[in-house]
Amino acid sequence: MPEGIITVAYIVSGVLFILSLRGLSHQETARNGNLYGMLGMTIAVAATLFAGNTGTLWILIAVMLAGGGIGLVVARRVAMTEMPELVAILHSFVGASAVLVGIVSHLEQGQKIGSELIIHQIEIVLGVFIGAYTFTGSVIAFLKLRGSISGKPLTLPLRHQLDLLMVLAAVICGFWFVSDNQQQLTALLAITFIAGLLGIHMIMAIGGADMPVVVSMLNSYSGWAAAAAGFMLSNNLLIITGALVGSSGAILSYIMCRGMNRSFISVIAGGFGVEEGTLAVAEKDEDGKTVQSTSNEETADLLRNSKQVIVVPGYGMAVAQAQYIVHEIAENLRKRKVSVKFAIHPVAGRLPGHMNVLLAEANLPYDIVYEMDEINSEFKNTDVVLVIGANDIVNPGALDDENSPIYGMPVLEVWDAKTVIALKRSMATGYSGVGNPLYTRENTWMLFGDAKESLNKVSALLN
Ligand code: NDP
Repeated sequence: MPEGIITVAYIVSGVLFILSLRGLSHQETARNGNLYGMLGMTIAVAATLFAGNTGTLWILIAVMLAGGGIGLVVARRVAMTEMPELVAILHSFVGASAVLVGIVSHLEQGQKIGSELIIHQIEIVLGVFIGAYTFTGSVIAFLKLRGSISGKPLTLPLRHQLDLLMVLAAVICGFWFVSDNQQQLTALLAITFIAGLLGIHMIMAIGGADMPVVVSMLNSYSGWAAAAAGFMLSNNLLIITGALVGSSGAILSYIMCRGMNRSFISVIAGGFGVEEGTLAVAEKDEDGKTVQSTSNEETADLLRNSKQVIVVPGYGMAVAQAQYIVHEIAENLRKRKVSVKFAIHPVAGRLPGHMNVLLAEANLPYDIVYEMDEINSEFKNTDVVLVIGANDIVNPGALDDENSPIYGMPVLEVWDAKTVIALKRSMATGYSGVGNPLYTRENTWMLFGDAKESLNKVSALLN
């Protein structure tokens, strides 16, 4: 295919990817954003297929069919709650590809000489380093999110010095690679090994509560790895796409860090997590107060007699798949002229936007869904807050207990409402493993049980 057509196709794809990102930033336009992305990717893949040697086209098509088939099966099977794991393992593939592209680029360096050769070699070193780090780091994030390895941070003595030493060793190997012509492959493999080790060590040192930021950070790294691969292959579209993924991942990480009141550096440096012993929450607090529980009937009565209700969904709503019944109850109350609002915390659930996706799936109108900053001042004017399977995001300890591991994380200040009803199955802790003093507050009532089962009963009582 003529070079000009390929270039035009790449530019069109690049524009579609930018439109896609723009669309994905709002719920109302997210569907179109996805469509733009899919269209852009189709054009990009088709152009790439015809840009190369058409003699090997059948190999590419066979590999694409196999990969696409596996992707389709996995994506259909994966539960929404397992999505972060899937995203993490997919990032690892990008990292592994960048390493392989780097090694092959080196083996096929061709006729480059002088400064062109040096620039190409630097691209290879960077691509392989970022790729190997992203690969092993993503595999560790995957295993942590799956619970296959503990979410507790691994804090080896002198770990920061160890990290620095590894970076230094990789830089030295980089110089060795660029300057030596006999053992370049050994140098490249050494960089791969060191960066891989660094990825394992750095992500092992990050505690469970910081995992959402880590996943989006690895997303960003996978973008930079792809951009580096683009430089190695002289493929402009890969450079554009990689840079888009890299920068949007970095912006998302920044937004999430702000949502958890953590500095980016402190997340990457790791060590933040839960000490053994704070994992179980007592049913009594230090003053000996026990939790108070309520019934479905009382909950239905309270809701019926409220002027304003705020629903705070969390991970448990996703587990129980309670979004449909929540919508039904909201509609019922709205018909009774009760004001119903939904409050979304930036890290509710297990992936950015998790709650928005579930609520959109249940066709909840967007105009009653509010972000944390918009709604925090509303709780004091609210009669009942329904906390549905949320825990960490409504923990008052994050604001007033300096010893709490999540101290400093902004939370939904539900306790300002007249009454809080917390739906969960037990007194178990949430993701961060930190006890929640909300449950022993005077205005909090526990409605124990699976959220969907409880809400089904409440809904029946409301009718
Ligand atoms: P949490 O993990 O803090 O709490 C969820 C609660 O849901 C649990 O306490 C559990 O209690 C309850 N629950 C589970 N299943 C059910 C069920 N079937 N019915 C009723 N309740 C149920 O969730 P939050 O949404 O409050 O907070 C999210 C946490 O996840 C934060 O710590 C965040 O940092 C982290 N995280 C967020 C990511 C993101 O990108 N959004 C990614 C990865 C982690 P019980 O077992 O007693 O029922």
